[in-house]
Amino acid sequence: MANTESSINPFETAKQQIDIVADLIGINDGTREVLKHPKRELTVNFPVRMDDGSYRVFTGHRVQYNMARGPCKGGIRYHPQVSLDEVRALAAWMTWKCAVVNIPYGGAKGGVICDPKHMSKGELERLTRRYTSEISSIIGPEMDIPAPDVYTDSQTMSWIMDTYSMQKGYSVPGVVTGKPLSLGGSEGRGEATGRGCAYVIRESAKDLGLRVKNGTVAIQGFGNAGSVAANILAEEQGAKIVAVSDSKGGIYKADGFNPRAVEEHKRKTGSVVGFPGAKAISNEEVLETQADILIPAALENQITKKNADKIRAKIVAEAANGPTLPEADTVLFQKKITVLPDILANAGGVTVSYFEWAQDIQGFFWPLAEVNNRLERVMVQSYNDVHKVATERKVHNRTAAYVLAIQRVVDAIRIRGIYP
Ligand code: NAD
Repeated sequence: MANTESSINPFETAKQQIDIVADLIGINDGTREVLKHPKRELTVNFPVRMDDGSYRVFTGHRVQYNMARGPCKGGIRYHPQVSLDEVRALAAWMTWKCAVVNIPYGGAKGGVICDPKHMSKGELERLTRRYTSEISSIIGPEMDIPAPDVYTDSQTMSWIMDTYSMQKGYSVPGVVTGKPLSLGGSEGRGEATGRGCAYVIRESAKDLGLRVKNGTVAIQGFGNAGSVAANILAEEQGAKIVAVSDSKGGIYKADGFNPRAVEEHKRKTGSVVGFPGAKAISNEEVLETQADILIPAALENQITKKNADKIRAKIVAEAANGPTLPEADTVLFQKKITVLPDILANAGGVTVSYFEWAQDIQGFFWPLAEVNNRLERVMVQSYNDVHKVATERKVHNRTAAYVLAIQRVVDAIRIRGIYP
């Protein structure tokens, strides 16, 4: 995926993070090596018949990073800049994310190098079905369960489910998550990331003695994760959403927006920009807004050495993956800003994916209230677990989340032992 700092190899970053934690908690060299290698990688080159009758060969990857704690879980992305190292890094991060929220999964990720914006629905369907077929020997409800990621959605998951099921000869809904309800999707999955983020914000605010009710919130990226977090913070916790943005720009209103009305405006016009009664602001200004809570919910690498000093929020809750660069982390920590790191703050999505899989393999489906109650329990527990490590070790929450996650994976590796 496009990285604004293209010189950064994400897998090198992922390995450095492992070393930092390994030093901190004293992981031996052998285990460290295990943690720094993906368990299994499959690269496939496969032809797809295009609409004009020609054939094109596409390259896809599926990386299963670590399955010590259970079957692997992770999305599939379609993007021209997919690379094996990016997929490896994302698979490692999925491993830690699943471990932070203590769901019984390892981590995986997949990607196909393609430009979905310039492909027809038919071409995407044929690409998806052939890629599924190529990786079908290593996916499955007991082995590796894909999900949507950048430029893949519930339709893509339906094609994967159908292709895998056709090969088996019976329906296997548990092979992927993020499916529509009609195919064994879960209630609440669409809202899960934003909802989970709102729960950890609430818990963190309690610890900090900060009132979310009438507190102010700024959100960069008013898409799925950002808009749902806005709705829940406003409607269930009484917060004032004072600034939001999307790729076209930002808007500000000191006494707060009705986020549902902003959503409606965006649905009608394609952007939050131009919302009646709002002041237009830039995307940078959204990040630097005077607000109690800042939610980066758009892209990676948004809070950098350059702007970290200008962040004025008390809590930064990372709904997006990787919005804060490491050098900015240090600045935020020094400014005593509480960062709720991505592997905790946006883990509501994978948690409800886990619920979807659990429902599929039982063939027994839960009502929305049950999904949300269970999600709340997982997020509150995970927040408390991270906070405890941060307090005990006097480290910031990101390090604490990695310590917690990597320790859980190491415990599983150790107790299982090395085969044979
Ligand atoms: P989305 O496509 O629904 O929304 C992204 C939003 O960001 C859009 O409104 C877009 O206009 C906006 N945006 C793009 N570039 C921007 C820019 N330069 N400045 C401001 N806004 C910009 O995507 P999403 O599913 O909400 O995902 C957002 C982030 O959350 C991503 O980092 C994603 O990896 C992460 N995430 C999402 C989920 C999920 O379940 N949806 C789960 C975990 C993590």
